[in-house]
Amino acid sequence: MALRRSSRIATTIASTTKQAARSAVFTATSPLSSLSPDPDDKPRPTKRKRNNVKADAASGEDDESAPTTQKRTRRRRSPPPEPTPDDFAPRVENRWKIGPHVSSSGGVENSVINAAAVGANAFAIFLKSQRKWESNALKEESVTKFKARMKAFGYSPSHVLPHGSYLVNLGNPDKEKREKSYACFVDDLKRCEELGLQLYNFHPGSTVGAATIEQSMALIAECINRAHKETEYAVIVLENMAGAGNIVGSRFSELGDIIRQVDDKTRVGVCLDTCHMFAAGYDITTKDGWAATMAEFERDVGLSYLRGMHINDSKAPLASKKDRHENIGLGHLGLRTFAHILSDPRTRDMPLILETPAYDAPVGKEKLAWEGMGVWRTEVSVLNRLSGCCSSPLEAEDETPARPAREGEGEIGESEYEGWREEVHEAVKTASKARDAKGRKVDGAGKKARKGKRRKGDEEDAEDEDDDSCGEDH
Ligand SMILES: [Zn+2]
Ligand SMILES: [Zn+2]
Repeated sequence: MALRRSSRIATTIASTTKQAARSAVFTATSPLSSLSPDPDDKPRPTKRKRNNVKADAASGEDDESAPTTQKRTRRRRSPPPEPTPDDFAPRVENRWKIGPHVSSSGGVENSVINAAAVGANAFAIFLKSQRKWESNALKEESVTKFKARMKAFGYSPSHVLPHGSYLVNLGNPDKEKREKSYACFVDDLKRCEELGLQLYNFHPGSTVGAATIEQSMALIAECINRAHKETEYAVIVLENMAGAGNIVGSRFSELGDIIRQVDDKTRVGVCLDTCHMFAAGYDITTKDGWAATMAEFERDVGLSYLRGMHINDSKAPLASKKDRHENIGLGHLGLRTFAHILSDPRTRDMPLILETPAYDAPVGKEKLAWEGMGVWRTEVSVLNRLSGCCSSPLEAEDETPARPAREGEGEIGESEYEGWREEVHEAVKTASKARDAKGRKVDGAGKKARKGKRRKGDEEDAEDEDDDSCGEDH
């Protein structure tokens, strides 16, 4: 079944255009397999390494071994060709800008390619290691390349939503610890501006059990005000949280209270995470529930502050306060939830970021190519269809402009919901057979895979573990 379905999808994609066919080849194995001589990660690189050693050993004047010398010269002189949009299936035109939190491994410039490889119209990145207090500055070459690729691939800087470090807690009443967080936070904002990006998303913080929520909210606002003065234009976007422990920001009213204390209101906003909303008790699974939730948001925060969303399904039930992301359609939210969110004009023209479990892994020396991105590719495609942009995989590959918003999920038939859910399910099944969430290969049965975890999901899950301790450690 899995094979039949995926080959059908591949055929559908390939049947549209020559370009699409090319990129189907590209993406079916690794997005940039043609750029990487060794798409298989382990055995062959080892062999290459061995060749390298041989070549190095053979580079003495006494050895003129033609093949090894040639190999060595070619590797040095010919960097991989710069990827172009033609290397990928054309992205759908949609006013709902959907895409995952992609890897920046090998340089922030690679994030653009990783986004294009899954048909994303928006994406998120980390600006540095999210687990370290200090990181090397961005390389000038990386910044230049990132900007060039953003242009070449047609991404708007307002559709990229960098995510802040998980270590930062601006609500910590301990001054020394808060200062450490603040330095890390401002450094991130500066990186954001260096890359020409407009938005910066972070977790508001925690009282660490040592302050009232009001005190922590005031400290967070104070840090934002300070950061505004130290930077030029980046908009600081507060994320709503699932509500565990001492975490600030699970209620809209808390986000509103912080914003009210910010002086420059043009440079502050909110990112709504669907999984966190649901975990915090906002029942967005029905159209009425979504409408009521948005009414509360309008009342307590204000719609003009909505600058982005995290589009995640939830492993945990309503009001569980558990931050457990699930693949789209496979959790307690279900596809219908995303159909009414992604047909709401209020969520248009902003980054709508997937932080769902995936199984991607770096391929090749350049770390440009990634395997196991089939899950995200499928989720992006399904979400585009749910938003009313395109109603079938075939149409999804067309360059037809988005249709007007759907009236509601009623237009999507029961069998469509079922089929699309099954598509995601199959993609997850296939991916988890090959790799675990750390991108490591597993035995064919996927036994070693830690279900529902992924590299970035690990961070999201860890965010959970951090929920009670976040701040206490730093
Ligand atoms: Zn987050
Ligand atoms: Zn989360």
